[in-house]
Amino acid sequence: MIRSVTPAVHFGGMKRVALLGATGSIGRQAIEIVESHPELELVAAASGSQSLDGLAPLTQVAGDLTELLERARPDVVLNAVVGFAGLPATLWALERGVTLALANKESLVAAGELALEAQRRGGGLLLPVDSEHSAAFQCLEGRTKEQVDSLVLTGSGGPFRGRRREELGGATPEEALAHPTWSMGPKITVDSATLANKGLELIEAHFLFGLPYERIEVVLQPTSIVHALVRFRDGAALAHLGYPDMRVPISFALTYPERSATALPALDLSQGLVLEFEPPDLETFPLLGLARSAGERGGTYPCAFNAANEVAVAAFLEGKLPFLGIAATVEETLAEVDGAPARDLSDLVEADAAARRLAEQGVQVA
Ligand code: NAD
Ligand code: MG
Repeated sequence: MIRSVTPAVHFGGMKRVALLGATGSIGRQAIEIVESHPELELVAAASGSQSLDGLAPLTQVAGDLTELLERARPDVVLNAVVGFAGLPATLWALERGVTLALANKESLVAAGELALEAQRRGGGLLLPVDSEHSAAFQCLEGRTKEQVDSLVLTGSGGPFRGRRREELGGATPEEALAHPTWSMGPKITVDSATLANKGLELIEAHFLFGLPYERIEVVLQPTSIVHALVRFRDGAALAHLGYPDMRVPISFALTYPERSATALPALDLSQGLVLEFEPPDLETFPLLGLARSAGERGGTYPCAFNAANEVAVAAFLEGKLPFLGIAATVEETLAEVDGAPARDLSDLVEADAAARRLAEQGVQVA
């Protein structure tokens, strides 16, 4: 009897990779990783607008990315789309039990419970690509939740670390885009300058690791060498160290559980290494606290936080909103939405759209 080859069966240990967001910062680094690992095969690639000619056997520019995934039958989907637009691909992979290497944190923040339900049904792996979450995942591997006391997410603090609120009124997109340690796409770079990125990461960690918010802490570590720390109930703490280079968590996720070799340099301690930690300034960077409270309130508050932030960041980058207006827009939006839990994807899409409308109005008034 001739049987069709299912996506889970592959010859010679090859892993079929679908890369969404292939032209972006994560996407380009992922291509480098795929090219350097012979066991990885790029079977499909997608972007939002730029052409992808010849990059993979199947390519798609914009449109419904789940159509591409249906055709590609990948073993692993690397979702490196930016923003809520990445949600259908996240749910597609989780629902089908196809391994999801997730850079697109916005989809998990917005869809939280729905995404986890899809993963439970699908039974596949959800591997974080976000560096802090990849680090935490590695520190947590093989332990039970009961053993964990708390999780610490680290952040560089962005280009405005140490500044006070009064000094940021005139902060320009150019200044916000000058990140001290990471080179990334524009949206996440602005999120790093406002600390909205750590806020999104806090919610992302809550869903990924099933920890309550009071057991997730955010600490600044300005050189971005320590990516996360887990404290255990016996008083021990494990940390994950490395140079700030996204190719490490990308390679980890794509080659999991093999942890294949990369050509990237190992951590050099021969010249000494000083690690400094400091608490984030929640008054100057209110988006971190707003994200925490949106996460704690639950329902579609995280979805609204994300939607309003996307609208506000886009307006800031277009010069239509001052830097401090980003947090103000998000705060006002969160005060107006109902935050009711989403029963399904259409509820969630509606909550996202409602928050976007409110945020757009806020931006026009500002
Ligand atoms: P980027 O702006 O550099 O790239 C975004 C990619 O998504 C591009 O290829 C773009 O064409 C594509 N895209 C945008 N809208 C799309 C749509 N509607 N349909 C299909 N494709 C679309 O962004 P980035 O910095 O690579 O970040 C991507 C994701 O990874 C974000 O969610 C970000 O938060 C996360 N992330 C990035 C980094 C980093 O170092 N860049 C680190 C951690 C997490
Ligand atoms: Mg991160």
